Amino acid sequence: MSHLTINRITKHFGTAKALDRINLTIPAGKLVSFLGPSGCGKTTLLRIIAGLDTPDSGTLTFDDTDITHIPASRRNFGMVFQSLALFPHMTVAANIAYPLRLRKVDRTRQANRVKELLELIQLPHMAERPVAQLSGGQRQRVAIARAIASEPRLLLLDEPLSALDAKLREAMQVEIRQLQQRLGISMIMVTHDQREAMTMADEIVVMERGRIAQVGRPLDIYRDPANEFVADFIGLGNVLPVEHGEDGAVMLAGGQRIVVDGVRERGKPVRLLIRPEDVCIRDFASTSGPNRIEGKVAFIRDVGASLEATIDCAGVTLTATTTSRETPGLAIGQTVFAELPVASCKLVAAREEAHHA
Ligand code: ATP
Repeated sequence: MSHLTINRITKHFGTAKALDRINLTIPAGKLVSFLGPSGCGKTTLLRIIAGLDTPDSGTLTFDDTDITHIPASRRNFGMVFQSLALFPHMTVAANIAYPLRLRKVDRTRQANRVKELLELIQLPHMAERPVAQLSGGQRQRVAIARAIASEPRLLLLDEPLSALDAKLREAMQVEIRQLQQRLGISMIMVTHDQREAMTMADEIVVMERGRIAQVGRPLDIYRDPANEFVADFIGLGNVLPVEHGEDGAVMLAGGQRIVVDGVRERGKPVRLLIRPEDVCIRDFASTSGPNRIEGKVAFIRDVGASLEATIDCAGVTLTATTTSRETPGLAIGQTVFAELPVASCKLVAAREEAHHA
């Protein structure tokens, strides 16, 4: 099976290091998402894979062939980049056929392929419409059709949905994912939206300041983040400062003892991670057992399907997600007990001081 191997890729812009010895394998037929805050190097890495930028050092191999110095046009990777816009004056069909024309595919085959792709992106009646008269979502679909027209070995997408409103964005996420699975194509998608990466990707590559912070399946990263940065970046989380305690326990700032799942090397700074959906809110009726902290409800955000409560407990602020059915009548100012189930209390390595190599 074909796959891409990235080996010690480093890239500077002037004296700034955009990528620092990146090692990564992109498995065949999977959707891999590069995720990270602005400026962490996602686009630079994608452009190097595409052949639009050259690395200072390191190699790229695809199917065991070294492609580091092969020009973009000969890599046969499909691309949907903001910088590679559609031709607005041309029709939908002409845009999709463009890469086929460049490859001098004969006209009948071009027409058949365009028809097939229009069906695939569910715009079969739009062939003759100028691109300028399409909606944002339709344009996005045409860009994807154009990118896959010449059956690329790998499809590269840079924030393909960033221009769309929330609803359309979600619909397109499902569409891209289904398309990828139907075609069995390998895809790399850059995003800074962790929810998008969580719901679409087989594998997430979390990047931080030109380095890879963690690679893994979305739920594994969510449940078992490598460090405080990843814990903070993926999903909502309570990431709390703690001191090491005795017997598999830690101490919160207010002196409260919390029993945790698993232990970590003593001496290294750690944080306690507990996801909001794992925090149980109880009233006075049930107040025994470990990891119960008394607190006051400081804020409530009820969006119908779920309810998010902020609770001030001795020295820390906890966020808990629940529903109004589970916690009827919950009100600001109310005294409650937050229960932190032991199995959901994880310790993660504290963030190191910012450093630039
Ligand atoms: P965003 O989510 O904001 O697009 P990103 O993770 O894609 O960010 P990159 O665009 O890869 O980040 O940029 C990585 C670093 O390299 C940043 O510090 C950026 O300022 C710098 N950089 C990127 N392209 C250039 C360039 N052409 N010239 C100089 N510096 C650049």
